[in-house]
Amino acid sequence: MAHEVPALPYAYDALEPIIDKQTMTLHHDMHHGAYVKNLNAAIEKHPDLANKSAEDLIRNLNSIPEDIRAAVRNNGGHVNHSMFWKIMKPKGGGDPSGPIAETIQKTFGNFKDFQTKFNDAGTKQFGSGWVWLAGKSGGEVQLISTPNQDNPLSQGLYPIFGNDVWEHAYYLKYNNRRPEYLAAWWNVLNWDEINKRYASFKSGKTADERELAHR
Ligand code: MN
Repeated sequence: MAHEVPALPYAYDALEPIIDKQTMTLHHDMHHGAYVKNLNAAIEKHPDLANKSAEDLIRNLNSIPEDIRAAVRNNGGHVNHSMFWKIMKPKGGGDPSGPIAETIQKTFGNFKDFQTKFNDAGTKQFGSGWVWLAGKSGGEVQLISTPNQDNPLSQGLYPIFGNDVWEHAYYLKYNNRRPEYLAAWWNVLNWDEINKRYASFKSGKTADERELAHR
């Protein structure tokens, strides 16, 4: 079964003015589309991997045949972006609530300090990459940034939520002002979805396993 780009759960212009329609269209259709196309092309060379979820593929990169390992790693961008569309929504944002709010407060003191640290990490990520709130095996959470399309799953961490700091995510509207994009992005966050992902992490289930269970 080939990997597929999930439909955007809202219209291309629904996150305006935070993220503009053209950026969303290019980002979803072209960039995410390319990660999926290239991932499928790599997997075609190793049909034994055809039934593995994209998350499973990047969770065990060392087990991926060497000739397609870099392609699978890079196109783990499929996993990152499938998360990214869902953790945003029109008229989102505001203060987090529920278990994720408690965890942020416990770990970072308060939400504002957490946002500042998250935005700093995103600003300092040199070149392309992501900034994440990631879950650790003991149940705690931590802030990390990753280069390129690397996902916390490849480090044994759980991607609770993350922001894409590749220029393709913001350059048309924010130009070189990445900190401005990082600051604005909180206004489109879908805390209900983030709480669902946090619950999946706490239950030891991956997001794809949760999706399967809900089908
Ligand atoms: Mn992207």
